[in-house]
Amino acid sequence: MTSWQTIRNTNKISVEALRAQLSSLGLDPRGRKRVLAERLRHYMNPVNEFSTTTNNNANGNKNLTQLLNEKHIPKDNKNSNETFAQTSPSLSSSPPDPIHSDREVENEKPVEFFTSSKSNPKPQPFEHYLCFDVEATCEEGGTFDYFHEIIEFPVLLIDSKNFEVVDVFHSYVKPSVNPTLTEFCKKLTGIPQSTIDASPSFPEMLNDFQQFLHRYQLFYGSSCAFITDGPWDIRDFIRKQCNISQIPRPSYFTLPWVDIRKLFAETYNCERCNIEAMLAYYGLQFEGHLHSGIDDTRNMTVIAKRLWQDGVVFMPNSELSKNGHKKNPKSAKRPK
Ligand code: AMP
Ligand code: MG
Ligand code: MG
Repeated sequence: MTSWQTIRNTNKISVEALRAQLSSLGLDPRGRKRVLAERLRHYMNPVNEFSTTTNNNANGNKNLTQLLNEKHIPKDNKNSNETFAQTSPSLSSSPPDPIHSDREVENEKPVEFFTSSKSNPKPQPFEHYLCFDVEATCEEGGTFDYFHEIIEFPVLLIDSKNFEVVDVFHSYVKPSVNPTLTEFCKKLTGIPQSTIDASPSFPEMLNDFQQFLHRYQLFYGSSCAFITDGPWDIRDFIRKQCNISQIPRPSYFTLPWVDIRKLFAETYNCERCNIEAMLAYYGLQFEGHLHSGIDDTRNMTVIAKRLWQDGVVFMPNSELSKNGHKKNPKSAKRPK
């Protein structure tokens, strides 16, 4: 069950693959290829309940503010009377995030139907999901070309039957090239220097993480996919760090994964937005320290559960390009 594809064109998928996907979703795998493709597409067909003909962006998508103005926020939520700007000032008033700009997103495959049906949770194609969000060394005003080294590696294991967190792997990591954090980085991530000083190297940490994977037989005994916020974690931070540590990219980081930011935007037919803004859509606020990896992942699991409750199927919607995303090879070189 590892070859989940971004199925923009089901004609490119073999009959066997379609049957396997239908079976794993509890759907009838019988019939001709066209019928199978239609059945799968129907299962995941976007609802686009917020689609509109006015005030959309160039792609026809609403921004979150428009969406929130129209979306019914549950009455029992204490923020129900707050505007979007109040609950999430970051989307409307912050300067563009230099790391999370769309600059490097152009290689991503378009995705068509990983979206919600009206209400009830649906069976998922994977038994487990791993919510994942790394933090890395950084400096104020640093761009994507910055020499990032991973300093925090949190992973929350989610049971796809109920979207509950069943276990946590969390480690800080000591960078090998620039182990001294900038003041900006300490403030951004909330990670003190003393924590980094006492942490394992990336390869040592990876060894522990693989034991965690092994404990649950993830990716072999139990089917599994990563969930990230954006393409950067698996595509870029892991690539840079593996180059720095001079180790091959682990095989589980070569598999397609679920980008929740993209999934959210396609589900609700809105622009891609950050964790705070996604939470604000549900009338929720970020809990913890923004840019603490473990807090980011915990808040991502809240969004994932809401999406699941809205009937979303967590099908991988992102993958590495054929060349392993070496779009920016300079960025992995040591600074002068
Ligand atoms: P995030 O997952 O959004 O917390 O960000 C992951 C990593 O991206 C951070 O640990 C930083 O290395 C980098 N980063 C995020 N936001 C910024 C920013 N505003 N300025 C510089 N680096 C950033
Ligand atoms: Mg992140
Ligand atoms: Mg983070």
